[in-house]
Amino acid sequence: MLELESDIDIETRQQLDQKLIKASYRRLLRSMIKVSVSKADKAEIRKAFVFAMEAHGDQRRKSGEPYITHPLEVARICFEEMGLGYKSVIAAILHDVVEDTPVTIKEIQKNFGDKISRIVDGLTKLDGLYNVESPQAENFKKVLSTLVDDVRVILIKMADRLHNLRTIDSMPRHKQIKIAAETSYIYAPLAHRLGLYNLKSEFMDICLKINEPELYESVTTKLKESTKERNKFINEFIKPLKVSLDELNVEYEIFGRPKSISSIANKIKTKHVKFEEIYDIFAIRIVVDVPKEKEKSICWQIYSIVTDVHRPIPERLKDWITTPKSNGYESLHTSVIGPGGRYVEVQIRSRRMDDIAEKGYASHWKYKGIANIHGIYDHWFDSIREVLETPHNDAIEF
Ligand code: MN
Repeated sequence: MLELESDIDIETRQQLDQKLIKASYRRLLRSMIKVSVSKADKAEIRKAFVFAMEAHGDQRRKSGEPYITHPLEVARICFEEMGLGYKSVIAAILHDVVEDTPVTIKEIQKNFGDKISRIVDGLTKLDGLYNVESPQAENFKKVLSTLVDDVRVILIKMADRLHNLRTIDSMPRHKQIKIAAETSYIYAPLAHRLGLYNLKSEFMDICLKINEPELYESVTTKLKESTKERNKFINEFIKPLKVSLDELNVEYEIFGRPKSISSIANKIKTKHVKFEEIYDIFAIRIVVDVPKEKEKSICWQIYSIVTDVHRPIPERLKDWITTPKSNGYESLHTSVIGPGGRYVEVQIRSRRMDDIAEKGYASHWKYKGIANIHGIYDHWFDSIREVLETPHNDAIEF
């Protein structure tokens, strides 16, 4: 009787596993629907999925889920949230196979070729480099020195880190603290240097949640509680701009965007102010859909519309369109005096600039009129390599 029951348990557990695995795989495929992936590439992705699934066998995540759900989700992050291509997707699916299973790098090479195997090899070697005993700058340099070969290694590693952070709740406390330390000393500054702002914010927010849970909770709660009032203010700010913006006859989007939880928390700590006293909890962002050659002039036209209605603070004007930041960031920023005398930061940029700022340079290739995808990757990877090979002190001291 007892035996029969456990047989049933095993069966339902297997069914549940199958369901979870299928859901993860579908989620990855669904993220790729909007772009055309060739049949051959799709077959290769499926091959990697089956290969990794068999290799990981019945390994499980700390959360109890089948292990393969992790590499599948890392692959989806690479594609959907970072704008990487299908080669990275395949490498991401295989990224833990050599590290955690008997499969060798030779077998990866035999099945998936030189390029993929070199990326997987880089990912395997990158693990375990970080050493809590040695100084942070030392660790940072060690990580950087391994990146000469293929920059995709570090980008996939960051997606890996992001998924591990998103699922960190099932980790024991001491591991959470170690992962948070690594993240804030290595991955967050690197994401910043590479212009991957979404990634950096999420890294820092989760680190804060681990290291200072009360502060994290209080900022999150206050952000939620103040949503209604904030939206009212934002609407009041936006309303008088709309008529003139509509007259430009271009597609645009205007919205308020709250700053990250960690940056608000940081202000509370370093400036010793209360949440209620911080005026720049959010920024107003205006994003326009215009061809590249019109970006600059339209953005300045919008600047002129905004400052006709709301008085600008001249010294806060930052023109990163004419001179982009060294990590590639492009945007026009200014601060103005909004309703009730409140200072408001305004960010003006094109859709292309917005996508690159949010997801990184790889998202570039989704734009029409860009014929040579590989050329763009090479360009981005070159610029990353440049950033990595000439580390300024700011990244290390971050
Ligand atoms: Mn992993």
